Amino acid sequence: MAEEKIIGIDLGTTNSVVAVMDGTEVKVIPNQEGSRLTPSVVAFTDKGERLVGEPAKRQAITNPRRTIYSIKRFMGRRHNEVEEEEKLVPYKIVGGPNELVKVEIDGKLYTPPEISAMILRKLKEAAEAYLGHTVRKAVITVPAYFNDAQRQATIDAAAIAGFDTEYEIRGKDGKIVKQRMRIINEPTAAALAYALDKKKDQKIAVFDLGGGTFDISILDVGEDGVFQVKSTNGDTHLGGDDFDQVLMDYIADEFKKQHGIDLRKDPMAMQRLKVAAEQAKKDLSQQTTVDINLPFITADADRNPLHLMMTITRSQFERMVEHLIERCKKPVMAALKDAKLTPQQIDEVVMVGGMTRMPRVQQLVKEIFGKDGHRGVNPDEVVAVGAAIQGAQLLLGAAADIQLLDVTPLSLGLETLGGVMTVMIPRNTTIPKKVTEIFTTAVDNQPSVEVQVFQGERPMAADNKKIGSFHLDGIPPAPRQVPKIEVTFEIDANGVLSVSAKDLGTGKQQQIRIEGASGLSKEEVERMRREAELHAEEDKRKREFADAKNNAESRIYQIEKMLNEAGDKITEADKAPINAAISKVKDAINRHDLAAVKTATAELEQAASAMAQHLYSKVGQGATPSGGPTGDTGKKDGPDDVIDAEYEVKK
Ligand code: AMP
Repeated sequence: MAEEKIIGIDLGTTNSVVAVMDGTEVKVIPNQEGSRLTPSVVAFTDKGERLVGEPAKRQAITNPRRTIYSIKRFMGRRHNEVEEEEKLVPYKIVGGPNELVKVEIDGKLYTPPEISAMILRKLKEAAEAYLGHTVRKAVITVPAYFNDAQRQATIDAAAIAGFDTEYEIRGKDGKIVKQRMRIINEPTAAALAYALDKKKDQKIAVFDLGGGTFDISILDVGEDGVFQVKSTNGDTHLGGDDFDQVLMDYIADEFKKQHGIDLRKDPMAMQRLKVAAEQAKKDLSQQTTVDINLPFITADADRNPLHLMMTITRSQFERMVEHLIERCKKPVMAALKDAKLTPQQIDEVVMVGGMTRMPRVQQLVKEIFGKDGHRGVNPDEVVAVGAAIQGAQLLLGAAADIQLLDVTPLSLGLETLGGVMTVMIPRNTTIPKKVTEIFTTAVDNQPSVEVQVFQGERPMAADNKKIGSFHLDGIPPAPRQVPKIEVTFEIDANGVLSVSAKDLGTGKQQQIRIEGASGLSKEEVERMRREAELHAEEDKRKREFADAKNNAESRIYQIEKMLNEAGDKITEADKAPINAAISKVKDAINRHDLAAVKTATAELEQAASAMAQHLYSKVGQGATPSGGPTGDTGKKDGPDDVIDAEYEVKK
């Protein structure tokens, strides 16, 4: 049996994409609606039904408070960190200032990993339908700037969606090796997709302006095919959403000037405006002017309907967003500086993210690097394509000639005397990485040390982000600076950190895998995973019932139509068994009994078919003998075709 494939998933802020390596080619897998891009949107209808992707996005206008988009902005984040993002979304974000945020819909709380899992599950199912087998392994991408908590939250989402977070694959030497689920940086994946059949020994910049984040990475593809990320930088608060927001604000301001009404107070109007603004922005990548037309957007004080009509030119739009374009420059320069390269030394700039289709963004790249960005690979799909390549390489046991080396996006360290941040693993270190250093006590007879782990670039620990802490106690009394405490920071290939401390005197040891990195315990993840699975069953049942009901109702309609059209050619006695069968189907539908709907529909088919045959035989005899149909459908000669064509009974 062929080994189960590892799929690649770009779990985006705005859109998600799933791809798989098929032979030597990467295939982007269309979703259930037939699209290659799946909007990262989840919605709950007022009937409690769950919608994911395009169906969710489509109803966002009429259901703004139960429609969750940009959930990626909330992954693994605490309330005090997301004040900006919270303002951008119409759904309710809850949680204490230092607590991980949750989304509240109709009084029910959902964690961001749970919501992301719904998107992942949809992609998983699309891949399963495409491949024809169960898929439990995936490579998922995250922005380079995702911290440990955000990465861990992504892994949790995958677990809830039913992916294995640890699995066994055959290594290069044929041995089975345990592999932790791979989370790779989006720009790394993009460069990998680009480099698949390109020449080696190049410096590549990956310029990724997506829906919610901006990432810039500088990579080096060596002669030996080894792929090294030299530096990464970016802005987690800059993306297509911000461009949409600027345009929405402009339109709302203009509308207010014209009509004195603030559309911002009307969530329904704002949702419509959001969709229109995004479309206008995209259109302006192709054309130089765009008309925005939103009839009946609101009503005036006298309840007269008001329409929004506006023309926007590309140059007008470019002026409006120039400050956002400007904001891309600094991270690019910082990344180049970290990689110790000048813009001219970059051989290729790979463009990633839908926003790089905007001409002004392309112009910016040319201004910075002195050359056009490379757009050979579809900017919406390139990340998923890279993830799929990485997935295939894992299966090959890294036998392929491209190796991937990722870097840490932020420095990791611990607090030492005086609140100083002592860096153990500096940012832009190639991972996996293990660093061990010896520390000691600050005061005489100090019985314990507290290891407080921080992430960030500021010299004082308190200014950085605390990501975990633990105590190592039982240190025997000794003068200060005598005990030797060995601290180890180990960051795995996914950028997930483990920290341990060992008292070399007693051999006593303490360790954490950054506790509560995503705020979800193993049990919680397991519970959510089970719930999601339960839900999947329920969703499947709902869908099956809806299909059966639709089928039954359309058959009833057709059969009733046939009966009516036949008029008195069919006697009441002939109709009786059919009417009885119809009642039975309707009753089963009312009882929501899927199995009963199916059997009753089959019985109805039989009754109708029997009657049709009976009817035909009577027509053939030119007489109208009494007596009901026999239910005998065994007679299969000539007339079948005619019955089909006239009454559509036998399909
Ligand atoms: P991504 O996160 O890569 O899916 O990027 C999605 C972002 O790209 C969204 O903000 C889209 O509105 C934007 N986008 C997609 N197509 C275009 C286009 N033709 N011109 C400008 N922006 C676009």
